[in-house]
Amino acid sequence: MPETATSEFDLAIIGSGGGAFAAAIRAISLGQRVVMVERGTVGGTCVNTGCVPSKALLAAADARHVALDAPGRFPGIAAIPGPVDMPGLVAGKDALVEGMRSEKYADLIEDYGWDLRQGDATFTGDAQDPVLEITNTDGAVETVRARHYLVATGSTPWAPPVDGLEEVDYLTSTTAMELQEVPESLIVLGGGYVALEQAQLFARLGSKVTVLVRSRLLSGEEPEVSKTLMGVFADEGIQVVRRAAVESVATDPATGGVVVAATTGAGRQEYTADRLLVATGRRAVTEGLGLETVGVATGDRGEITVEDTLATSHPRIWAAGDVTGHPEFVYVASAHGITVVENAFNDAGQRVDYTHLPRVTFTSPAVGAVGMTDKQATAAGIRCECRVLPLEYVPRALVNRDTRGLVKIVADADTGRIVGITAVAKDAGDLAAAGVYVLSAGMTVDQLATLWCPYLTMAEGLKIAAQSFRTDVSKLSCCAA
Ligand SMILES: Cc1cc2nc3c(=O)[nH]c(=O)nc-3n(C[C@H](O)[C@H](O)[C@H](O)COP(=O)(O)OP(=O)(O)OC[C@H]3O[C@@H](n4cnc5c(N)ncnc54)[C@H](O)[C@@H]3O)c2cc1C
Repeated sequence: MPETATSEFDLAIIGSGGGAFAAAIRAISLGQRVVMVERGTVGGTCVNTGCVPSKALLAAADARHVALDAPGRFPGIAAIPGPVDMPGLVAGKDALVEGMRSEKYADLIEDYGWDLRQGDATFTGDAQDPVLEITNTDGAVETVRARHYLVATGSTPWAPPVDGLEEVDYLTSTTAMELQEVPESLIVLGGGYVALEQAQLFARLGSKVTVLVRSRLLSGEEPEVSKTLMGVFADEGIQVVRRAAVESVATDPATGGVVVAATTGAGRQEYTADRLLVATGRRAVTEGLGLETVGVATGDRGEITVEDTLATSHPRIWAAGDVTGHPEFVYVASAHGITVVENAFNDAGQRVDYTHLPRVTFTSPAVGAVGMTDKQATAAGIRCECRVLPLEYVPRALVNRDTRGLVKIVADADTGRIVGITAVAKDAGDLAAAGVYVLSAGMTVDQLATLWCPYLTMAEGLKIAAQSFRTDVSKLSCCAA
């Protein structure tokens, strides 16, 4: 294997996703020499196979759903959507992804001026002198030495050990978004945000969808969220089977589709469909990185163990994003990337604080949350007082003619300080963003209840939910007065 000379950099980054880019841009702004190594497509998960393509397809499916739904919802409106042209839809999504990949990732490399190597990176050397070995697709090997290294290798779909699963041609969120036809029927395994978004996506494109979930939908969120989504999914013909322990998966000899056997509350059941989508979570990508060679510790799920400073067990090797096992959101990855550079090159000692991290599921209605759930607040020793405001008290939901949803506020009963906000509503992610400001400012329910809020916004739900601590909101006039 031909060897080349070792290049020297200040920062060598493995991966080219959100974590890697944020780090590279910050390091360049500090005048550091940066090299980035990517073995797949530049841009990583978010732009290529995650946030961007999934939300592009969801937006399209939402347009179709609104058209189908409009006549029953808005008197005087008629709309007749035609059949779904899946190749056209996927090609449109691919074009959008390509554009955003160029504009938001690939072109920036030249603009900022760091080096990119296309190849597979692995650590060699030892803990005293870690070196990166990069093997490109032709088998050529290059070595890189840096003052600091950042591992930002992301995560990959994970499938549980289920009998027969490996023999079946199952879909992941990545391959599902490449399908050239809408499956007539689809079983989705999983109850997290990716599973729910994709379940609703395919249902709205015309699939008959069954979701098998181990506990409940979005089990980390408030129970009211799961209940509301159960109702929404039922309205859209999506069957949700809770507390389903999947035992085996096999090809259905009669149809060529899949048969999934699961133990449920109703005993052992079999579910059949054309296709199976496994969305049971993701695992950190650390295999083959040679972390053990240089003394970087990993946890039970392969994730790189990090401090809140993003320091690993090696003083010059850092980690950022999904590979750390922290919440899998691209804004977490980019915050990590920036923190790494500040700590590595400015010795800033910055720590990432996840207390007010917003969480969004882009179903429709969406789920947005920030801070603690009722249960978490109680577990933290907070005597809490909560209010759940059904969306029928929010004027925006009334004029939208869709009142499925809620706003829940969890407050400290002793101080009135808000410690958690959850919304199930159209654009609930925007409410979660507003919730970040509310929680970060340490606001009380009384403060939130008396702040300005524009009439006929969904965000008014936050103000009305706060008012519901002291007032009977069913008796409010316009503008929540
Ligand atoms: C379907 C889906 C929808 C999502 N939607 C959202 C959303 O709406 N909002 C949101 O905030 N987040 C969303 N996410 C999560 C988000 O995409 C991830 O949290 C984020 O992209 C992780 O970024 P990262 O930098 O950690 O890693 P990644 O973006 O995964 O990048 C890692 C890169 O490292 C490369 N790599 C790995 N090993 C090596 C190696 N040995 N050598 C060279 N290169 C290597 C990989 O090829 C990859 O390109 C979604 C994820 C999925 C799957």
